Parts: sequence; structure tokens; C-alpha cells
Amino acid sequence: MSILVTGGAGYIGSHTVVELLELGKEVVIIDDLSNASSKVIDRIENITGKRPAFYQLDVKDKNALRTVFEKEDIESAIHFAAFKAVGESVQKPGLYYENNLMGILALVEVMLEFDVKKIVFSSSATVYGSFNPSPYKEDMPVGVPTSPYGQTKVMCEQILRDIYVADNNWSISLLRYFNPIGAHESGLIGEDPSGIPNNLMPFIAQVAVGKREFLNIFGDDYDTEDGTCVRDYIHVVDLARGHVKALGKLDQDKQVYTYNLGSGKGTSVLELVNTFVQVTGVEVPYKIAPRRAGDLPVFYANADKALAELNWTTEKSIEDMCRDTWNWQSKNPNGYQG
Ligand code: UDP
Repeated sequence: MSILVTGGAGYIGSHTVVELLELGKEVVIIDDLSNASSKVIDRIENITGKRPAFYQLDVKDKNALRTVFEKEDIESAIHFAAFKAVGESVQKPGLYYENNLMGILALVEVMLEFDVKKIVFSSSATVYGSFNPSPYKEDMPVGVPTSPYGQTKVMCEQILRDIYVADNNWSISLLRYFNPIGAHESGLIGEDPSGIPNNLMPFIAQVAVGKREFLNIFGDDYDTEDGTCVRDYIHVVDLARGHVKALGKLDQDKQVYTYNLGSGKGTSVLELVNTFVQVTGVEVPYKIAPRRAGDLPVFYANADKALAELNWTTEKSIEDMCRDTWNWQSKNPNGYQG
């Protein structure tokens, strides 16, 4: 019996595949490689000694998906495959709604055809919107995200909840990620953004490796201790392990589970930059720039529920995240292209 991992060649997907393989699980990856490299499959094999089955296809392509379900003995799915650039989603909302919604709809339709009713969904803390106070708790009402990307996460969660209402034989886990950073400690897999990174840690890493001159820190006049925004950073390996736990939970009761995957601790932009410099010994020049539109000053998780119900908590520190990011970036200055 295999676990289908859509988007399994991507950043979080590949780390989750490694954790699953290390536990002896069978994995089938599907990925259209629109934002990932086929080299990831080799790297996963290098780390684990096992090569997952891999199909290059678009999750929206129902016929191609059916072929995979016919060939493989799929028992559950972890659905990562989606577009994720917040800024791009504001520019191209149609593309984001189409890709992210048609993707999940195609997947659940084909799962239903093959009577596979266990799914873990890659959601985001952005579903809490801008009105809920931090720390975010799972029982807060879903808010109004400021980007089409965030809206697709709200809508996908709702689609899955409705599917459960219609058929209680589904077992569903909605995982709301905070800010995943870091890389596998081998330095063989990591985050490889295309073009100019939108997120803070990949930008820091590219400045450190000399690909960019300096970091822009977007605002130092927020109402926080040092004036820069506070986020809840989580090591991608901790995040990957959260998926394994969430998947295991689906075998207990058939329900819709919702979990925050975060550390429960806030770290400011300046703290992250300073820790990176301290841990790596590499300079990261920065300039203070105007605030970025849509940024919330502070958000972090209440991570109690995942601990209580999944026995999952983050184990890795901000120092680990910085060290592992640098290990990946310095060994792969051009990501998977190098
Ligand atoms: N940030 C920054 N410079 C950058 C990228 C991000 O100062 O080049 C800041 C951003 O304004 C936010 C924090 O870093 O306060 C985290 O941003 P990211 O995009 O990584 O995550 P998100 O804001 O989506 O939580």
C-alpha cells in the first residue's frame, strides 16, 4: 500500500517523502515539475537508499491521475501540489484559483472513484486572515486572507469539510503551516525558489552566498520589540514529521482534523538575520526598506493541539534552521541547477 504525495518533488513535499521512506512507507510521487526539479528524486534516493515511484503529471489531469491509481496500490494522499507565491497570486488570481482549486477537485474525484478516502492537505496559517489575534488557535473562525493564494487555501479546506459532510467515510487532516525554513541536514534537498525569492530565509541565503547584494528588511517601525515583523519559523523537517503524525491519526477516527504546525514562538526579521550571521559566520548586509503591502506585524501559532492529539512538537531551533539552510545553500549555490 502506497501513500500518494502530490507535489512530492517540491520543498515541503520532498522532505515529507524522505520522512515517510525512512519509516519504511511506500511512496508514489506525482509532480508536474512546474516548480521543482527531477533531480530531487535522485537526491531522495541518495538520502534514504530508496527510490520512490515518480510520475511527472499535472494533478489537474484526471485521466493521468487515474492511470496512477490503476497502476499503484494507493491507500491515502498528501496533497502539496499547488501554486504558492503570494505576490504572484495577486497579479494572476485566475491562475491561482484555477490551479489550486481544479487540482484538489480532480484529486478528490479520482480518489473517490478508487475508494481512497484519506487525505492530508497542505494548508496555511494565512487562513486565519488579518483579524484573528495571535497566537492563532484552530478553533478560531477562518478569516479573510489578503491574497488569492490564501483564499484558495480557505476554499480547499471548505471543499474537504463539505466532502466529509457528504460522506463520513473520509478521514481528512488540514495542516496549517506557519513559516517553514531550513533544509534536510544532509544538504541534499532544500528550498530552491525560481527567480527572486519572495520569502525571507531564501533571500537571506542568497545574499549570504553572494547571489544578491543585500537584503531589504521590509519595515522597522512595527509595534514589535525591534520594530521588524514577527513570524513563527518552523524547520521543514519538523514540518515533514508533522505530516507523518497527521497521516497516522487518520487511521484512528474518521473525522476532519485541523492542526497548526508551528513552534508557538515568534522570531523577528532582525533576530533571524542576526542568528543566521552568528551561526554561519557569514555576513548578510541589509537595508531597511518600506513596509511590504499586506504584511501583518506579528503572527505565530498556538501549537498545543498538535502536541496533545498527535504527540507532535517542533524539535529544531532557529539555530538549526539557519545552519541547515546554509548547509544546503552553500553546497547548492544555484539550487538544483548547480
Ligand atoms: N521580509 C523581508 N525581506 C524580504 C522578505 C521578507 O523583510 O526580502 C519580511 C516580511 O516583510 C515578513 C517576514 O520577512 O515580515 C517574513 O516574510 P515571508 O515572506 O518569508 O513570510 P510571510 O510574510 O508570508 O509570513
